[in-house]
Amino acid sequence: MINLTDNITKLPGISDKRAALYKKMGVETVGELITHYPRGYIDFTSPIAIGNISGEENAVIRAFVSKKMRPYLGKITVYKLMLTDESGSITGTFFNGEYNYTRLILGREYIFYGRVSVNQFGQEIINPIYIPVDEVNKLIPKYRLTAGLSQAIVSANIKTAFDLLKEFPFSDLPEEIREEYSLLSHGEAMVKIHFPASSEESNVAKRSLVFKELLILQLGLAMIRSRNRKLTGAQMGLKSEQKQLEGFYSTLPFKPTNAQIRAVNDCIRDMGKQIPMNRLLQGDVGSGKTMVAAALAYYADLNGFQTALMVPTEILANQHYKSLVDFLEPHGIKTVLITGGMSAAEKRERRALIKSGEAGVVVGTHALIQKGVEFASLGLVVTDEQHRFGVGQRSELISKGANPHTLVMSATPIPRTLGLIIYGDLDISLLDEMPKGRLPIKTYGVNSSYRERIYKFIINHVNEGRQAYIVCPLIEESMVSEKTGAVKYYNELRESWFRQIPTGLLHGRMKQTEKDTVMEKFKGGEIMVLVSTTVIEVGVDVPNSVVMLIENAEQFGLSQLHQLRGRVGRGSEQSYCILITDSDSPYTKARIDTMSETSDGFEIAGKDLELRGPGDFFGKKQHGLPLMKIGDMTSDTLILEETQSLARNIIKDDPELSENVELRQLVAELFKETSEYGFN
Ligand code: ADP
Ligand code: MG
Repeated sequence: MINLTDNITKLPGISDKRAALYKKMGVETVGELITHYPRGYIDFTSPIAIGNISGEENAVIRAFVSKKMRPYLGKITVYKLMLTDESGSITGTFFNGEYNYTRLILGREYIFYGRVSVNQFGQEIINPIYIPVDEVNKLIPKYRLTAGLSQAIVSANIKTAFDLLKEFPFSDLPEEIREEYSLLSHGEAMVKIHFPASSEESNVAKRSLVFKELLILQLGLAMIRSRNRKLTGAQMGLKSEQKQLEGFYSTLPFKPTNAQIRAVNDCIRDMGKQIPMNRLLQGDVGSGKTMVAAALAYYADLNGFQTALMVPTEILANQHYKSLVDFLEPHGIKTVLITGGMSAAEKRERRALIKSGEAGVVVGTHALIQKGVEFASLGLVVTDEQHRFGVGQRSELISKGANPHTLVMSATPIPRTLGLIIYGDLDISLLDEMPKGRLPIKTYGVNSSYRERIYKFIINHVNEGRQAYIVCPLIEESMVSEKTGAVKYYNELRESWFRQIPTGLLHGRMKQTEKDTVMEKFKGGEIMVLVSTTVIEVGVDVPNSVVMLIENAEQFGLSQLHQLRGRVGRGSEQSYCILITDSDSPYTKARIDTMSETSDGFEIAGKDLELRGPGDFFGKKQHGLPLMKIGDMTSDTLILEETQSLARNIIKDDPELSENVELRQLVAELFKETSEYGFN
């Protein structure tokens, strides 16, 4: 007998060598093996003619075994058969495939599915899966594989696991729900998704698993939401607000855009209500989100409330702190910074200012949500570049006030439906207008033969007093990869091309104080060229920078390239983004072309989604939600809607799931890696 947590090597048929292959796909335990769900099923019903096979591809063919060749004996014995249909013949090859070789009968017709490979002997279909022609409707699962594993092996191993698992220790959704929505029990659905007797059966099995997973996710989110839905203790209602804001606007070094004013007014309207504001401020890089946050902090302060601004990195915290000081100190509002890198004494001092209410605005990283931080009267919580925070972290901060208002600022355009699911019933303000006088950034994709010309180009700009970024994908050059390492790159540049140019280095493994110093110097113009890893990706704002050079551009996704490019083009000078790559993959080319053709963040995100597929785009890193094993938030929209409304109904009657213990446990389990949710 075996357990879900046992290593798969406990299963007969899984050697250490095979287990290592599974590990490559993230499968180590029996539980992980049986949740290695099929990605679909082989369609044996529409074979193609052998004569029409064009190259290396996965193909289904319907053919007779027309000849059995003599096996090549060796360390690996190779068994070959000739497979023939009306249009031609192809070799069927089985490595160590004695069993299949004997089982396939000369002169009989089968349907085969497998990878076709082309070599000096012609076309071969390698280790195909096959069924007799009268079993054409049989459903055989297609699994994600790695070299050395085949569909048949994975399927057989999963079968063994089910045979040895004495009972299914899975918790089920309550019976009433399963009945109402026609769902199978978890165990039954698990077996049937791997070994369905018909396509209806596989559909019901999949629906049952997806439904359960998404329902639990939605319940967790609904719980967080209902905790935030109580009346606010920070209703702000100054009558003369507009006039007061004129006072703020008049001290700005620029004229706010109409979009900025509109966004500020949207928020002020929300903050006057009894229910806390829950708004998303969406604006492309450079659209001026920080100023909106500052205006609201100013307004909250007028009403006697504190504002907290939480950002994902220390570099950003420092930068926002400085911007807010510039925006707010003229109005006598004290702004403080609190980050993880600070000494205990510094933190203590800041905490005292926050607790006494002397600090009107607090900017910080995760340090903001730590235990010792208490606010005198927290009325507004702003999170920047929100997709990097878990939903739970936001609610942690919210719980430090009396249901304060929240504003989430993001440059990542999220499809509206998905936004609703991740953030709840959000209202949205769009900054759809760039500050005046910005020139579009000129973007070029080149190969490395242009590198020296680009260095000269950068040097010319530096001589005119402008600054530049050079971004490299890795910190150190590693043996296994030719990706450019920032440290080595920096050292080489300093000794060659940039000997006369004040050049700095920034990467994630530097100490916080070192990073701060470098950023400080770059802002102040003491450093003119900054060689960096992607630590500068989000939010960094140095308007005097006009060149962004990205090395090994093929290493970056589209949205990331767009974020990086957004570091330039922030002032009135013409800016340039140069993408260096020697990759000729069509995927890289598509990204470079998109970058050269458009600067619209929404368009780029759409393209990114198209190129990468939803799983990656909305991976855990992006939104901080637990990973779905089978449910796909972008394609299972019907089930998503069903589960969302069911979850809301359940939570309405039982906000903490205290009467639905089974569900509560399932929620706690799904969210267990994000302990800050507090569902246990
Ligand atoms: P993001 O939306 O990417 O966070 P920022 O708030 O960092 O953008 O603003 C980008 C730059 O534009 C900053 O230097 C900021 O001071 C400037 N800026 C913001 N609003 C305006 C405006 N209305 N006119 C001119 N410059 C502005
Ligand atoms: Mg920003």
